[in-house]
Formats: sequence, structure tokens, C-alpha cells
Amino acid sequence: MKTLIACRTCGREISPNAEACPHCGEKLKSNQTATGLLAAIIIGLIIGLVVYFAITGPSNSEVKMNKTLLEEQRELGRKVGEWNELAKRAGR
Ligand SMILES: [Zn+2]
Repeated sequence: MKTLIACRTCGREISPNAEACPHCGEKLKSNQTATGLLAAIIIGLIIGLVVYFAITGPSNSEVKMNKTLLEEQRELGRKVGEWNELAKRAGR
């Protein structure tokens, strides 16, 4: 005994296993699969983005911070060298 379902388009009883409505030709299974696939893709994208930002976000800013720190240290070293030279010249 088969349990029939009502077609979403024409409302007639059709088999739930039917890929398309035999009365109006409305596709049933492919539509459901497409919707499920879309939802899975969107969920996957969201999870992927969250993981991506969780992994790359902090490390990127850390690298940038390290770079600016290094640059500041180099500049400080240059200034200290200049000051030392000035002090030597002034001492003479
Ligand atoms: Zn139908």
C-alpha cells in the first residue's frame, strides 16, 4: 500500500517516490535536493568563513604588529646611532 502525497502545483495525489508529477510535470525530488544542497552549501560557507577568520584573522594582525614593531625598533636603532655620533662630535 502506497501513501500518496498531494502535488504542490496541481494538488493531485502522486507517489512520494515520483521524481516528477505525472499530471502536471512539476519536478519534485530534484527541487528538494536542490534546496537541500543550497542550504548545505550556505551552511558550509558560513562555517568555512568562521573557521577562516578564526584561523587567519588574529595571526594576520599579529604579523602586522610584529612588522611595525620591527620597523619601530630599526628606526629607534638608527636614531640612537645618530645621537651617539652627535654626542661624539659634541664631545670632541
Ligand atoms: Zn502536479
